[in-house]
Amino acid sequence: GFTDAPSMPWFGMDIGGSLCKLVYFEPKDITKDEADSEVETLRNIRRYLTKNSAYGKTGHRDTHLQMDDVYIRGRRGTLHFIRFPSSEMVNFLALAKSKGMANLVTTVCATGGGAFKFEEDFRREVNMKLEKFDEFDSLLKGLQFADAQNPSECYYWANPTDDACCSKVKYDFSNPYPFLIVNIGSGVSVLAVYSATDYKRISGTSLGGGTFLGLCCLLTGCNTFEEAIQLAAEGDNTRVDKLVRDIYGGDYERFGLPGDLVASSFGQMNSREKRSKVSRQDLARATLVTITNNIGSIARMCAIQEKIDRVVFMGNFLRVNPIAMKLLAYAMNYWSKGTMKALFLEHEGYFGAIGCLLQFHE
Ligand code: ADP
Repeated sequence: GFTDAPSMPWFGMDIGGSLCKLVYFEPKDITKDEADSEVETLRNIRRYLTKNSAYGKTGHRDTHLQMDDVYIRGRRGTLHFIRFPSSEMVNFLALAKSKGMANLVTTVCATGGGAFKFEEDFRREVNMKLEKFDEFDSLLKGLQFADAQNPSECYYWANPTDDACCSKVKYDFSNPYPFLIVNIGSGVSVLAVYSATDYKRISGTSLGGGTFLGLCCLLTGCNTFEEAIQLAAEGDNTRVDKLVRDIYGGDYERFGLPGDLVASSFGQMNSREKRSKVSRQDLARATLVTITNNIGSIARMCAIQEKIDRVVFMGNFLRVNPIAMKLLAYAMNYWSKGTMKALFLEHEGYFGAIGCLLQFHE
């Protein structure tokens, strides 16, 4: 029997500084008895979530990430991945209320700063109690689960600098320890993971995905992450940055620094003349390269300090962002002379929410 399992619906929620990530377990093994006794609201919510992929103006379901045939607490079902801006929380709660959620769900598992910030709103608006979990515990549990479920969860980029023949290659992460996690959300956290339960947060930086998006909006007038990434894809950072060759006229051979290496991010923008020649696209690209290379550099120093050679990058900064992933892949490999490897994950920003759902009345 399923008597020990918490009652449906099962959600896991990670309310971050930028995005709220919601994972929903849709049971696929409902017996006739269970269906007969199921309350109508529960059925309606399941239908609403699974039949749509857009919710309100800003909610999206990442259908390409859906995980079928997963087993959780003895139940078989499908995991659905939904996100919306954390700034829309009030509208999300109103939507949840209009779907009858207030008469149904009593407890939702939540992690991330918003689990504290919005706790009172959940109680007042939809009569929900938040069962709170630590975000890094959740992240790790979610990562372990996803990697065990999905044989192609973890991958690396082969030939990251060659547009013609670069490709994603599956990486066998079944023997992962020790490894580094670099979680690039609004800000960045670096964790060193020694076993399934033994880890520590060793570093971080406030120059993260939020910084990229914030600076990009300021510099280009764009309004969304997708727009910022699109601009960056069309731009050239070498018209913005000062390269080694702009200073040396070529390579700095004595210390092995190639001429096309960025010596000074945005270093050309002190010149009025150069400023008059750059495009929004160039500025977006330079912002992306600046933030990404800085994170890569911190990741490498942490890996050296911890004597770890595998670095797993995750977080929604990497969403629809192959430029950043390839830059990280190249930089990790190049500066470590091939000793370190940058790894990536398909469910990039959802591990906290997955881990949260798994811990529900564990
Ligand atoms: P957090 O938990 O801090 O919200 P995430 O892992 O969700 O962190 O990543 C947030 C970052 O992801 C943003 O700062 C931005 O760089 C990037 N991002 C990707 N997609 C979006 C989006 N649709 N809206 C806003 N930011 C996005």
